[in-house]
Amino acid sequence: MFMPEKTTDALRTAIDQALQANRPRLAKYLSIETVAAKHLGIEETVSVIEQSFQELGAEVTVWRDIPGSNPFVFATLPAGPNGNADKTLLFYNHYDVQPAEPLDEWESDPFTLTEKNGQYVARGVSDDKGELMVRLSAVKALQNTTGLPCNLKFILEGEEEVGSPHIAPMTKKHGADLAADAVVWETGGKDADENFQVTCGVKGTASFNVTAKSAESDLHSSLAAFVDNAVWRLVQGLATLRGPKGEVLVDGFYDGVKPLTPTEQAAIDQLSFNEAATRQNFGLKLPFISDKPAEALINRSTITINGISGGYEGDGLKTVLPKQARAQLDCRLVPGQDPEHISELVQAQLDKNGFSDLHVSYNQGEPAFRSDLTDTFVQTAVATAHEVYGDAVKLVPNAGGSGPEAPFAETVGAPIVSVGSTWAGSGAHAPNENVRVKDFTQAARYTAQLLQNFGQA
Ligand SMILES: [Zn+2]
Repeated sequence: MFMPEKTTDALRTAIDQALQANRPRLAKYLSIETVAAKHLGIEETVSVIEQSFQELGAEVTVWRDIPGSNPFVFATLPAGPNGNADKTLLFYNHYDVQPAEPLDEWESDPFTLTEKNGQYVARGVSDDKGELMVRLSAVKALQNTTGLPCNLKFILEGEEEVGSPHIAPMTKKHGADLAADAVVWETGGKDADENFQVTCGVKGTASFNVTAKSAESDLHSSLAAFVDNAVWRLVQGLATLRGPKGEVLVDGFYDGVKPLTPTEQAAIDQLSFNEAATRQNFGLKLPFISDKPAEALINRSTITINGISGGYEGDGLKTVLPKQARAQLDCRLVPGQDPEHISELVQAQLDKNGFSDLHVSYNQGEPAFRSDLTDTFVQTAVATAHEVYGDAVKLVPNAGGSGPEAPFAETVGAPIVSVGSTWAGSGAHAPNENVRVKDFTQAARYTAQLLQNFGQA
């Protein structure tokens, strides 16, 4: 389905100018080491955002009323005189970034915006600071040309990279402020085959620890003749939870999972998956545990041992019988699975399998969310993508990763789509994180065009 790009020359020019004018602001925003995990740079970052919105004429409020949370920034802009004042679109972004480590793998300073080979390089340029600047540039360009086609709201959080622990209380408290007809989420862009993705949800997660304790002190390993040990108990117990093809052997684990709708199945079937490139990129040594990897990424729940520790594994020998062991696990979940309940089911299964000495403790999690793919706004987002990106567009039912969409969906009750400016080599969370400058420009055009089509729809 190819549709000619409707972006007028005047709007294109205004977008280029706005992106150019915003470059120093982008550099400033990226120069702050806003690492939520280290509690760095929060206030300085918040004031850069506040100022950016004020310069667009937005009404900005910084919410500091959620105990223990980094501030949320909330901004609103009314539709222009020719716009549709009955329609409101809410953007979600986050201002925190991942730690830059390992620093010696960066080819330039992670907190200095560097332009090289047609790319912008810096921590946060793809995830997710750059994207806010793309969106603000689109807003500026619309203000300078046609005016805003609809009302806009922006919500920014500062804890996305540490699991968004305060999104749920924030959406509960500020549900009325957040009211909107549609939500545009952070992240997204082009896949490995250069298809622009319109992604309509996220997988959920449940993170938990499993611990084993078999004695009050470590013992001489000669006593293994009659004393069992924590490390064996842990690995034997964990081994009962998953089959060789990744199937989760926990009673009730899949209860509540709904079959894919025909529209979801059709969307999955048109996704491309490059097995050879995936194998090569990661140097994979084992066969896949699914013969439908594209579908599995979207709709298969998993259980993963993230790490395991116990006993002695240093230099030389230590013939010890360890008293304790510990593993961290996560499950990636699909709609219909409740994170905390999943960890309870794991404990129940271990008990049933004869491992009641193993103790499961829930860390944190988020439920999955998927928008209705037949929703008008989803259709508008896809049609707009065709206008800007031509044929190379994919509708993705949900991302393989997670994010706090479910509490938004519950409060706002509107469809959510993720669209962005990244590409397959952006390296979010990794050294030399980057975006391609041309993708930035295209994403700003997409954003402006989406707002126009949404305002008119
Ligand atoms: Zn991230």
